[in-house]
Amino acid sequence: PSDTHEALLDVRDITVSFDGFKAITNLSLSIPKGSLRVLIGPNGAGKSTLLDTVIGKVRPDTGEVRFAGQVISKLPEHRIAALGICRKFQAPGVLEGLSVRENLLLTARRDKGVLGILKSPTRAEQDRADELLRLTGLAARADVPAASLAHGEKQWLEIGMVVAADPQLLLLDEPTAGMTAQETAQTAALIHTLAGRHTVLVIDHDMHFVELLNAPITVLHQGQVFREGDLHALRADPDVMEIYLGR
Ligand code: ADP
Ligand code: MG
Repeated sequence: PSDTHEALLDVRDITVSFDGFKAITNLSLSIPKGSLRVLIGPNGAGKSTLLDTVIGKVRPDTGEVRFAGQVISKLPEHRIAALGICRKFQAPGVLEGLSVRENLLLTARRDKGVLGILKSPTRAEQDRADELLRLTGLAARADVPAASLAHGEKQWLEIGMVVAADPQLLLLDEPTAGMTAQETAQTAALIHTLAGRHTVLVIDHDMHFVELLNAPITVLHQGQVFREGDLHALRADPDVMEIYLGR
């Protein structure tokens, strides 16, 4: 079918277990290129395990993961990353002693090594860093040490560092954890901007944030896709309410 053909990420009937315990059971999920998708579900539903499987950190027992039509579920993690799949925590850690701009410059051209890039960034590299500063809303903080950033700002810097690698598929696991309401709203705006250029999969349990993302939602429960739909439909669904209340 044509929708399968256009999927950038196509998870096909995967089962993932840890010592016999099935964290994911016969799960299929397809994400079209250029789209934003939100993944929710109660604690232990298998959301993080799904991302671990996509990035190759965890192997499915059965089923396969396809990316841009290619089976990737047998590739080593670094090969999957090289195809353009990035999960936020895979970003090289923020270097606290360097400025925000230096952190972005450094990830924009990691192949050059720390000293090379900081001594003599090219015009193009500086422009790229400026673009990432604007994108993440950190332009006014460009020259402060990363150590002095607020929690939310540091999260945006980390997102900027991942985006610097220009991933095709960006995976964000609970990006608003620990954020204030205002930081959460700014993160939703940032993700909307990113979703215009990348395919983005976001896990979160903050329903206000999910509402702001205003994107199709997949609900996971006990390692399976429980529902797919928009927030309005899911809120009206008593079965969805029930799994959250744990009854
Ligand atoms: P979620 O992110 O939706 O909260 P997880 O994917 O982290 O859920 O976990 C799904 C289930 O798999 C949970 O029951 C969890 O305890 C189990 N699990 C996850 N990772 C491991 C692991 N490395 N070893 C054993 N069990 C795990
Ligand atoms: Mg999780």
